[in-house]
Amino acid sequence: MTVHIASKITQLQLNHPFKISRRETDAYREVISVEIDDGIGEAAPAKFYGETVQTVEKALGTLSSALDGNLDEIQDVMAGIESTLDGNYAAKSAIDMALHDRLGKKLGVPLYKLWGLNPHKTPCTSFTIGLDEPAVMAEKVLQAEAYPILKVKLGTPRDIEIFQTLRNVTDKPIYVDANTAWTPKEAVKKIRQLAQYGVALIEQPTKPDDIAGIKYVREHSELPIIADESVKRASDIPALVNAVDGINIKLVKCGGILEAIRMIHTARAHGLLVMIGCMIESSLGITAAAHLTPLVDYADLDGNLLISNDPYIGVTLENGKLILPDRPGIGVLTTT
Ligand code: MG
Repeated sequence: MTVHIASKITQLQLNHPFKISRRETDAYREVISVEIDDGIGEAAPAKFYGETVQTVEKALGTLSSALDGNLDEIQDVMAGIESTLDGNYAAKSAIDMALHDRLGKKLGVPLYKLWGLNPHKTPCTSFTIGLDEPAVMAEKVLQAEAYPILKVKLGTPRDIEIFQTLRNVTDKPIYVDANTAWTPKEAVKKIRQLAQYGVALIEQPTKPDDIAGIKYVREHSELPIIADESVKRASDIPALVNAVDGINIKLVKCGGILEAIRMIHTARAHGLLVMIGCMIESSLGITAAAHLTPLVDYADLDGNLLISNDPYIGVTLENGKLILPDRPGIGVLTTT
């Protein structure tokens, strides 16, 4: 028996054109939602990881043939999916999310309860300030008054100037994300300067495959170093031990909730800090990830806050703290 996966592409309109060190985006980002029975999930594919909504659609066609057997047995279903097709982790993540949503609805429990988690242990999410002219970034910081933690994208020749400008308008905790833009030596120098202005952590200073480079940065820096582009799945973690202080997990990078849980426990076994991050996603993908946040140190789940036409209502914020919905499954409602 082949299970039908219904899918639909949605354009999420961005409040501001969103820029990071390696590119500028258009005014919108495309995601693809999937339905398996009454379970729903979402893929937010990233070109950096080789996926688009077109590759996701194609992958879903291939993977629907692997959706046989008992869909409640998500471990087995996802193992079958993994052996059917390499890569395509955003597509796999959408299926994994839909299967979890379906199971939670069937059992009448929210995801956090399915895993025995305390919903009050969610952290505050950071709110991301994309790259722009320093004065424009400072204005965005002022507009982000509701969020107690900021994440600032850097990776330009003007990094220190930008950071000084932001520190003139805020004393909130700030995470800095260089998105692979710095050389190891440049990173050490910049981190030393940035630290004087107060920075909580540094995300992915250097190239994804340069483990020796990021290790060098960590050994010469006072601030916690978190790997993002260097770590996609649990099997990437052992190579990063002693090279970084923590990892940033994203459902669309790793292939879904099951693999994210594996990564959390693998990271903990190696004494690493854990962040859960996101792409530009609707409240569907963001809420799915939010259910895992009682297990992590840092949440960077703001993709839904950066868009103006969110099709869903799910996780909400109270002074920046993630408030999980207590409806069954992922627990989102449609807004249309
Ligand atoms: Mg990052």
